[in-house]
Amino acid sequence: MIDIIKECEGAKRIGISGHIRPDGDAISSSLALRKYLLNAFPDATVDVILSNPIPTIFDDEAGYDEIKRDYSEDVSYDVYFALDCNRERLGDAGKYFDAAGKRINIDHHESNKEGVGDVNEVNPDISSTCELLYTLFDKKYMDADVARCLYTGMVTDTGVFQYSCTSPDTMRRAADLMEYGFDFPRLIQRSFYEKTYLQSQILGRCLMESVRFMDGKCVVSWIDRKTEDFYQVSSKDFEGIVSQLRNIRGVDVSIFMYEESNQTYKVSMRSSEKVNVAKIAEKFGGGGHARAAGCTMSGTVYDCVNNLSKHIEKQLEAASDDEGTNA
Ligand code: AMP
Ligand code: MN
Repeated sequence: MIDIIKECEGAKRIGISGHIRPDGDAISSSLALRKYLLNAFPDATVDVILSNPIPTIFDDEAGYDEIKRDYSEDVSYDVYFALDCNRERLGDAGKYFDAAGKRINIDHHESNKEGVGDVNEVNPDISSTCELLYTLFDKKYMDADVARCLYTGMVTDTGVFQYSCTSPDTMRRAADLMEYGFDFPRLIQRSFYEKTYLQSQILGRCLMESVRFMDGKCVVSWIDRKTEDFYQVSSKDFEGIVSQLRNIRGVDVSIFMYEESNQTYKVSMRSSEKVNVAKIAEKFGGGGHARAAGCTMSGTVYDCVNNLSKHIEKQLEAASDDEGTNA
């Protein structure tokens, strides 16, 4: 286990970034680490740099207003943290990471097992980067702000402690964090369940227009550029759609896609225990976790779904062969 405090000793300027299109874990792990480092090193400068769009549902978190979204400045960092991602998904922040005196990568993605830093802590068995950070943090520098951020990232990546990445240790760590005292019902409502009216309408539309295939074991829904422009929506408004599709009875794999640029789709997948979607996403240059993964694909919606479904079918067949053997 790496010792974050030791690794940062003497550093005057520390930078932190999570992945592009940051989610609750990427944002909250960055803000938790920022506050923790400021508690430990009050004289250091600690920058969190994330790319837009940054969902406003996390604006209760300490340091949210300080997040930098501009990469034009030429700054060199003594230490730079890449959280919740590999080098590619750092986006424009990659230049700061590459040029830093020391590069530290902390992540829980199976697809980034080796890590991309000089110092790496990658553990795919842990629910979230926030939970992983908690295992690395010294209690001396923790406070309620740090605890709240860590709890938020855990809530996001475990689907409020429901997904299979939730372990007994996750629950014990969440309980420890709760001891710091913060408004957890509000946090869960705002960061997980609450949607704007428009987001709810988009969700409704996607459910309405979803298409089932492979005997109802798969379901797909998508949004093209025209629809995005019409409703004035972007990636941050699509959170939760793919999970809702996965909730349909009989579905093993759900796919949600939105058009990023002409015939280029950002693909999100969620699965039951029968299919490892990270393995499929990796075939198309993406990654993620066994039950939740993503990638970017080119072509028509039909091309993309066809390409994905070949791999899904193979895994479903292998799973049913296993069931047959075990019966
Ligand atoms: P999403 O479907 O965007 O919610 O992502 C599901 C999981 O897969 C998250 O843990 C993401 O960080 C990860 N993921 C999504 N897209 C990619 C990608 N292109 N490369 C690596 N990991 C990804
Ligand atoms: Mn994560």
